[in-house]
Amino acid sequence: MERFAQYIDGRFEQGTRSFASVDPATGTAWSQMPDATVADVDRAVLAAHRAFHGAAWAGLTATARGRLLHRLADLVAGAAQELAAVETRDTGKIIRETSAQIAYVADYYRYYAGLADKIEGAHLPIDKPDMEVWLRREPVGVVAAIVPWNSQLFLAAVKLGPALAAGCTVVLKASEDGPAPLLAFARLVDAAGFPPGVVNIITGGPEAGHALTAHPKVAHIAFTGGPETARHIVRASAENLASTSLELGGKSPFIVFADADLDSAANAQVAGIFAATGQSCVAGSRLLVQAEVRDAFLARLKAKAEMAVMGAPDLRTTEIGPMCTARQRDRIVGIVEASLAAGARLITGGKVPGGAGYFYPPTILDCTDAPDAPCLTQEMFGPVLSVMTFQTEAQALQLANDTAYGLASGVFTASLTRAHRMIRGLRAGVVWVNTYRAVSPIAPFGGHGLSGHGREGGLAAALDYTTVKTVWLRTSDDPIPDPFIMR
Ligand code: NAD
Repeated sequence: MERFAQYIDGRFEQGTRSFASVDPATGTAWSQMPDATVADVDRAVLAAHRAFHGAAWAGLTATARGRLLHRLADLVAGAAQELAAVETRDTGKIIRETSAQIAYVADYYRYYAGLADKIEGAHLPIDKPDMEVWLRREPVGVVAAIVPWNSQLFLAAVKLGPALAAGCTVVLKASEDGPAPLLAFARLVDAAGFPPGVVNIITGGPEAGHALTAHPKVAHIAFTGGPETARHIVRASAENLASTSLELGGKSPFIVFADADLDSAANAQVAGIFAATGQSCVAGSRLLVQAEVRDAFLARLKAKAEMAVMGAPDLRTTEIGPMCTARQRDRIVGIVEASLAAGARLITGGKVPGGAGYFYPPTILDCTDAPDAPCLTQEMFGPVLSVMTFQTEAQALQLANDTAYGLASGVFTASLTRAHRMIRGLRAGVVWVNTYRAVSPIAPFGGHGLSGHGREGGLAAALDYTTVKTVWLRTSDDPIPDPFIMR
């Protein structure tokens, strides 16, 4: 069995504990992963803390940090196919998506490489004639970065890129489900030449995650995962008072008006819910369709869902791969069954196929007469679309915003004025109009409500890893006047 190592203080380590990682397409163990202990976490954080204050990192100019990130970007681009194969094997994400996504991950590192020496402070036109006052943008310190199993290389890049550009050091914890891609990526970090301790990559589950987020030397926690874990993390950070950015789940509305290009909207809806086998935080999992086009649109979707090729994720022809874990597949089965019991009607899918692996087919549930169906409110993280019908624009908006989440949303309409009204009214961190699931390193991404807070991507994300130091410099040679009043 292949063995992977974690990466602490510039060294690869097998660790004292390990666990077997399972290939979700077959349900059999294929590799052995180190399982970080609390002591491993402590060593990783202390290494990051030393590196943060050490001359090898703190003494680098921002331009030199950018050069290291450029080198990392080149290495990721060069190894994209190899990394894609590892991610597909360990998480079941289809090779078509992993290979395209990882090639794009290199662009995220390039974006932040270029940004490193453009994170500027400011000079203030202060209201005192004998003072110069300016702001320095300084790195916050050690960052704990935690990612879930889906798109780990991507979710790591949106944290590592801005954190390293800002001058922070990082302990990145891979998910216990499918950690291999990040452990393979550690070899590229090492080859890029970052000083030891600047980037540490460990594994482990809740125990390691808790130890990391509660560690007194952690200054910022960048987390992607579910809301329940986020609550644990916020509680843990009550100890170290670290700042947090939380990228959580969603129950994103996908709204189709009668004047929309239905073929285009159907393709986007497939991208929004069946691509990545639905294991996507931005999954457009609630279809809201206007009554006039409901049957025509659902007929298109049903045909596409039934034509989607489900199978081995490493085949280029495969469109639907397995769920990452049996636990995840069983959870989906449970929510679909409860939704059917609550009155939802099955349009297609809904049946676990025979054979090995954690597969679940593209599934569409009509919830028009089942407003209490759990599939409308619970994030499923699988290829299950819940359908509601609306009559008016106001009703579409009301249904769309009827969620505790606020991550993404999609609107399909030919009307420019309506698009603008919807953009204004939707409570979500991202609104896609006549498109869905588009991302870029240049565009901030994130949500509010149960979808979390903070932004990844763009300049704003890099600023999240900085703190402002206000500098006062007195320019007068005269003695300081009356010391008993504030100046
Ligand atoms: P999860 O919250 O169970 O786990 C995520 C990570 O948190 C894992 O690495 C896990 O080991 C770690 N963890 C678990 N307990 C912890 C603790 N007590 N302290 C610290 N860390 C702990 O999430 P999951 O089920 O693996 O992933 C699916 C979730 O991730 C979904 O809700 C999905 O929407 C969300 N997600 C969000 C985005 C986004 O950008 N908004 C992107 C992808 C996934």
